[in-house]
Amino acid sequence: MSRIAYVDGRFVQFAHACVHVEDRGLQFGDAVYEVWAVRHGKLFDEQGHYARLTRSLGELSISPPMGMNSLSIVIRELIKRNRLTNGLVYLQISRGVAKRDHPFPAHATPSLILTARHANPASADAKAVKGIKVITRPDERWGRVDIKTTNLLPNLLARQAALDAGVDDAWLYDRDDLITEGTAQNAWIVDAQGTLRTRPATHEILRGITRQSVLALAQGAGFQVDERAFTRAEARSAREAFITSATSFVTAVVEIDGTVIADGRPGKLALLLRQIYLQAQNTA
Ligand code: PLP
Repeated sequence: MSRIAYVDGRFVQFAHACVHVEDRGLQFGDAVYEVWAVRHGKLFDEQGHYARLTRSLGELSISPPMGMNSLSIVIRELIKRNRLTNGLVYLQISRGVAKRDHPFPAHATPSLILTARHANPASADAKAVKGIKVITRPDERWGRVDIKTTNLLPNLLARQAALDAGVDDAWLYDRDDLITEGTAQNAWIVDAQGTLRTRPATHEILRGITRQSVLALAQGAGFQVDERAFTRAEARSAREAFITSATSFVTAVVEIDGTVIADGRPGKLALLLRQIYLQAQNTA
């Protein structure tokens, strides 16, 4: 079956989907994006991602090309046309097409791209059973990473450095040696007191929608949660470490900078939170 994309108001064959050479997303990274997981036909955390998209657009003064209700109809149609049961929906909105110049163009119409990608849930689940290994890298991103822009070069460089080092991913740390987040995931630990720790959602991290859901579920289940940053040393000596994101849900980290976390197997809390999260999404 051929893949279908949605570009500026039209469903098109994926192979023929393209943007203009002077699209500001391409020329300047003047664009935002979103990612939804689809599992067993359900869009996970659907409303949370619309809310963050609206915020990202507002922070950059890009007008939404359509309302969020219309967007949800288009996304459902894209899922249907791609027969997507398990996978991801990606969205990019740029400020539009205009002659290359730094100031915001007076009359550009924002461009909207949607693509859908199949993924095998069994392979994501297998990864969660095994856990992932990370290295730490300095956070070299700009000061407003809470806005979900397509400017991801420092994230790509850190991910590639991790792969080159033979591990799965990288956690980023700031000038005070505190972990900010992963290259495409929020970072968590269970500290020596058994408290769940994750950095507060300021301008230094992306306000992960999965993070937000897991935070609420963990509090609802009676776990001690503290939105407080942790150092690299605290991460390495943590009882547990894990990541949250739309692409990984909740996945344990079993090694940081070559230091094995606890017994080297995914921690109990990480596995439980994954289960609770998947259950909550499936029944939402
Ligand atoms: N942090 C970064 C830098 C990300 O790119 C992402 C997801 O793309 C996340 C965190 C996790 O966010 P979410 O849970 O909304 O997928």
